[in-house]
Amino acid sequence: MKPNFIKIEELWRVASNGATMVKARRAMGLMGGTFNPIHYGHLVAAEAARDAFNLEQVIFIPSGQPPHKSGFYVADPEHRYLMTFLAIVSNQRFELSRVEIDRSGPSYTYDTVAYFHALDPSVDWYFITGADAILDIVTWRNPDSIFRHARLIAASRPGYSLQKIHELERQLGTEPLTRIHPLEVPALAISSSQIRARLREGLSIKYLVPEAVEHYIAKNDVYAVLKGSTAPS
Ligand code: NAP
Repeated sequence: MKPNFIKIEELWRVASNGATMVKARRAMGLMGGTFNPIHYGHLVAAEAARDAFNLEQVIFIPSGQPPHKSGFYVADPEHRYLMTFLAIVSNQRFELSRVEIDRSGPSYTYDTVAYFHALDPSVDWYFITGADAILDIVTWRNPDSIFRHARLIAASRPGYSLQKIHELERQLGTEPLTRIHPLEVPALAISSSQIRARLREGLSIKYLVPEAVEHYIAKNDVYAVLKGSTAPS
């Protein structure tokens, strides 16, 4: 019987001094999101993905101009970038990229994964984001290119029906679906929209976001525009 803990396609066979050594492929995570603001759910999801998929590092990529956002307030990209920096700085396995912040125009994921794939095509790249965001992937620009260059990790809240992900098969076909990996993350009960709603109502966000992020929001009045507003947060 074949051992099921080594997937041969994920290994390189390297001949060395006549012996055959087996070297695992490197795997890295790309954590995409608007992070408006970043919260503990995002951090726990990134760490859970790192563990589950043996990722060397997870690179957080705050979107510059999110392509699908309308109808609610999105904080300035530099504020979202700095809040993400404050949230991840103490984890040696977390990194931060400005690639989408510095790119003009909408932040398309296919551009981002192609960029990282070109940096090192020998790495298995995993794009991590919310399961609900991935459900819309057929409406994203160039989804075929995303699947060519990366696998996707769909982080979901507890009780989320994975049936929704399976239904994507009709639109995408079978092969791309094998490249989407669902991951249930209980801490994703926290959401950015809930945090913005609390800020609008003047409620505490303590223990929902890292302390440094809480202080940054207060000191810079990042979501001041929401206070007392009746518009969707
Ligand atoms: P969104 O629609 O605001 O989020 C949908 C759900 O996913 C929300 O519940 C959200 O929770 C959650 N979520 C978002 N990012 C997450 C993450 N990294 N980990 C866990 N949960 C996450 O999604 P978005 O932030 O705008 O977009 C997510 C990613 O998809 C971004 O990288 C974006 O650039 C990409 N995207 C690309 C295209 C395109 O290429 N055309 C279109 C849309 C999105 P929170 O609100 O709590 O984060």
